[in-house]
Amino acid sequence: MPGFELFGDAERRELNDVLDNGVLMRYGFDGMRNGHWKAKELEACLQDELQVKHAQLVSSGTAAVSIALASAGIGAGDEVIIPTFTFVASFEAIMMLGAIPVLVEIDDTLTLDPQAVKKAITPKTKAIMPVHMCGSMANLDALLEICKSHNLVLIEDSSQATGASYKGKPVGSIGDLGCLSLDYVKIITCGEGGAVLTNNENYYRNADHYSDHGHDHVGNDRGAETHPFLGYNFRISELHAAVGLAQLKRLKEFVAIQKKNYDVLREALSHIPEVTFRTVPEGGEESYSFLSFYLPDLGITRKVAAAFKEEGVDACFHYYDNGWHYIREWQHLKDLKTLYPLSKEVKEGMAYLNDKSFPQSDHFIGRNLSCLIKLSWTETEVQERAAKMVNCIKGVLG
Ligand SMILES: *Cc1c(COP(=O)(O)O)cnc(C)c1O
Repeated sequence: MPGFELFGDAERRELNDVLDNGVLMRYGFDGMRNGHWKAKELEACLQDELQVKHAQLVSSGTAAVSIALASAGIGAGDEVIIPTFTFVASFEAIMMLGAIPVLVEIDDTLTLDPQAVKKAITPKTKAIMPVHMCGSMANLDALLEICKSHNLVLIEDSSQATGASYKGKPVGSIGDLGCLSLDYVKIITCGEGGAVLTNNENYYRNADHYSDHGHDHVGNDRGAETHPFLGYNFRISELHAAVGLAQLKRLKEFVAIQKKNYDVLREALSHIPEVTFRTVPEGGEESYSFLSFYLPDLGITRKVAAAFKEEGVDACFHYYDNGWHYIREWQHLKDLKTLYPLSKEVKEGMAYLNDKSFPQSDHFIGRNLSCLIKLSWTETEVQERAAKMVNCIKGVLG
């Protein structure tokens, strides 16, 4: 997945445009910048590539999630449904606004189970936020229908699936809002950055103002701008946007390389009857950033993960035992360990996590290995890797 593997001349050229005149800020300084507007240009390219009316670049993917929620008016005491398998950013971004993350079970797609989502809806629910983990996506039609019948906002976190599509549309462009991360380990990177995607004029205007102190961005004198509402600073710099611009132009090339490598590994594993693959919803096309598969049980999966490590098959994740992406190891969340006092609503709203178990998620995450697909592998390296993986799995299965 990581675009940083192929950082090169195109990225350096875009960066040099910015260094030539030294305007590192995305707004203002019109006379000094020799016509270089890297953030604006990257937003236009994102809109084009991801088939969405508006893209608002921001400082990170985590910020993008908070801004998307704020833009839709979600805040204190509101409930947002998210999956048990996601990155910690999901609940961080929700809690930053004083809203309550409601974690629900995933299914064999490794994303939100629509049936579990339905059961979790309460009068306080405002949004459903599927997270398209590891290059594939949630069942968006099912979730859209639930949102429609309960009048909820659908926010897609497509940080890990840029380049994937669902029924012909890029993920991130399908819900009311989409969130993208451009951090250093994503398929396209700008070092640190993110974007909010939407077709909704109002949400876009909110995201644009909110991410820059509430500035209305009318006219070309920042000092004279008004502030229709309060905001924060989540701006991206021109340096970051410049790198992202070069990388976005290579997205299709990156996806094609990943698919080639993914196909080799998948073909090799498909001859082992005990191995099954993650379900991709009908009409979904992955970004091929990961190959995710299931083994028969938790014990076997732990042994295979250990064998992979021993044999040098790197970047294969058993999320069940990993602190970043699965509820099981999020003790700091369950204990609500914060530097500052939390609101009564959040404390009460999250008390459920203390004794809640997620047997269905454990069933899938316990048996799942997700292997990162790299861009820099040679054909021989992929072949050797496939052979090693097959040997390790067969060795454990006996
Ligand atoms: C990376 C990631 C984010 C957050 O992105 P940052 O840019 O690192 O803040 C959010 N959600 C998911 C699923 C991610 O993988």
